[in-house]
Amino acid sequence: MRFVETRGNDASHAESVGFCEAILSPIASFGGIYSPETLPQLDQEFLKSQLSAPYKSLALSLIALLGIDVDSNILQKAVDLYDTFDDSENPVPVVRLHDNLYISELYHGPTRAFKDIALQPFGLLLSRLAQRQDQQYLILTATSGDTGPAALETFKNRDNIRLVCLYPKGGTSDVQRLQMVTESAGNLKVIGIDGNFDDTQSALKSMLASPSFKQQLQARGILLSAANSVNFGRILFQIIYHVHSYLELVRQSAISLGEKVYLNVPSGNFGNALGAYYARKMGLPVERIMISSNANNVLTEWINTGCYNIGDKPLISTTSPAMDILKSSNVERVLFDLFGPQRTRQLMQQLDENQCYQLDTAESRQIQEIFAADYCTDEEGMAYIRQTFEAGYLIDPHTATCLKSWEFHTPKSLVTIVYSTAEWTKFSPVIDEAITGNAGNPDQLALESIEHAAGIEVPEVIRALFTRPVCHDAVIDIADIEAEVMRFVGCDRE
Ligand SMILES: *Cc1c(COP(=O)(O)O)cnc(C)c1O
Repeated sequence: MRFVETRGNDASHAESVGFCEAILSPIASFGGIYSPETLPQLDQEFLKSQLSAPYKSLALSLIALLGIDVDSNILQKAVDLYDTFDDSENPVPVVRLHDNLYISELYHGPTRAFKDIALQPFGLLLSRLAQRQDQQYLILTATSGDTGPAALETFKNRDNIRLVCLYPKGGTSDVQRLQMVTESAGNLKVIGIDGNFDDTQSALKSMLASPSFKQQLQARGILLSAANSVNFGRILFQIIYHVHSYLELVRQSAISLGEKVYLNVPSGNFGNALGAYYARKMGLPVERIMISSNANNVLTEWINTGCYNIGDKPLISTTSPAMDILKSSNVERVLFDLFGPQRTRQLMQQLDENQCYQLDTAESRQIQEIFAADYCTDEEGMAYIRQTFEAGYLIDPHTATCLKSWEFHTPKSLVTIVYSTAEWTKFSPVIDEAITGNAGNPDQLALESIEHAAGIEVPEVIRALFTRPVCHDAVIDIADIEAEVMRFVGCDRE
């Protein structure tokens, strides 16, 4: 598989690159990103042949079909990391909620949110490719809660990679913070920032843009890379579970092979949805992909009106913080795939300059043939959590946003797969309030309260967090981040 740039080529980059280059140095011409030049087709024969295949073997078959230029023993080791999930035979269980509504549970990995599905294998791949090049990489991430723990977990003690993770102090749940600050390994650094997630992200951006910062790193023989959800190395592993979930429905006789389904994705940066888009394009029988949002409903407006507008919209803090995003980076790959690099560059430029762009009628229609969209407020989400709990199943606030778009906008004659992106343990205070009415409990009390109310147990990896020693206690001013990172990188080599 070859990758091309979403905003066209500026003659200083190669016309197309292979997978390794696209994931190690993901910065493309004109601020664009790398996207697949072509995609293979999944015909019925392929799907049929995978009906009896376990998850890991489906993953390897799909990666082979996509033509990823990585040694097969590395790929095998990457997908073997699914053995660390609750059920190594079936890391992504698909369960029936009611009627034609199924839930694909993406959170059974080590940090209990769906980021593990892609980051677990991606971390190993990146480290192995860096070793092959004999090159040291520094990865910087800013997290609002789920990416940080998953990135730390996957990169800890991996050769040729150092990871610095910035989080807004007070901006994550207790569980998420503890998952980060108790993660000890010499190649990891976790820094709390006095500020909110926006401040954290801006601090990261200005550091990445600083020439002196890059020069100092280079002088130490270190290159910068990225592990954010725009990296195609993560998207690759997000195509697989859509195909798997479809096949699970066939295995459970919910549908026959070839029958169309609705996919329903709680969306933030659009990585999960993009994986669904590629799977559909490759021929997975999908009627439409429902994009579910919270009160930050930029994607809802974009899909329903063709207008992508962030100008008059402040970012709202919701109970589904992983979806508190205005500029969904992976939308760009859909624009590129449907409308080509010239138009994508034009639209992205308009977004940068005017904070909005408007698709024309024909373009909007194309989007609406593939996607549908709605959003769900926090209050509505709480009601869905309660209602679903009363029916015997626990969902988190991100997953809850899907239930509204399912109820109001999905033909009930078709089977829907809702993607559940976090375990209840990650967002327990909201869930506790929804099901018991106790508002304001901190995580530890909320977890106990839910355990009691639902008759389930907190998994050991979460329980253990509260007694694990904290090894990253730095909380610093934004102005001091660069110096702190340099100290970490320098000291580490001595
Ligand atoms: C990251 C995340 C999302 C959003 O996924 P995208 O791929 O960024 O759209 C939704 N829910 C949870 C719990 C997440 O961690």
